Amino acid sequence: MAFELPDLPYPYDALEPHIDEATMRVHHDAHHKAYVDNANAALAGTEWADRPVEQVLADLELIPEEKRTAVRNNAGGHANHTLFWQIMSPEGGGAPPGGALAEAIEATFGGFEQLKAALIDGGVKRFGSGWSWLVWDGTALAAYSTPNQDSPWLQSDTPLLGIDVWEHAYYLKYQNKRPAYLEAWWNVVNWPEVERRYADASAS
Ligand code: MN
Repeated sequence: MAFELPDLPYPYDALEPHIDEATMRVHHDAHHKAYVDNANAALAGTEWADRPVEQVLADLELIPEEKRTAVRNNAGGHANHTLFWQIMSPEGGGAPPGGALAEAIEATFGGFEQLKAALIDGGVKRFGSGWSWLVWDGTALAAYSTPNQDSPWLQSDTPLLGIDVWEHAYYLKYQNKRPAYLEAWWNVVNWPEVERRYADASAS
């Protein structure tokens, strides 16, 4: 089963005014679709074509070398965007999470405000295109940024929350003001989904 472009879990305009409809349309229908199509083209006819995208990325060094860059970029782009749509919600934002995730954030970062500052800082300082991540590294939470479409799965970390800082994610509304986008993004963060991912990752 080749990779498939997932439907958005909400209408294109649902994240307004923080993420605009025009950006969501081109981001999902054109950018994400291209990652899916190009990943499928790279893996077609190989033993990897039917594997979960996370496994493909974690085992990237096993992919034939001539396909490795295309898979890194496009399977990475597919995995990253599939997560991105899910960890945003029109009912998002609001109070920081409670429970086990909040305790882990407190233990690692000192609190939600420090986590938010770390992820904004990672996104602002990422030169060019990339992502700012909260991950589970197998023993604890960690925050870092990656270039291009590099996924935390490449180093076998489980992504919990990722903010796309490619210009295509914000330029129509925010132009060159990446920090303003990174501040506004927290109005749509889907904490229940991030908590679900944390519970799954930390239990295994
Ligand atoms: Mn993107």
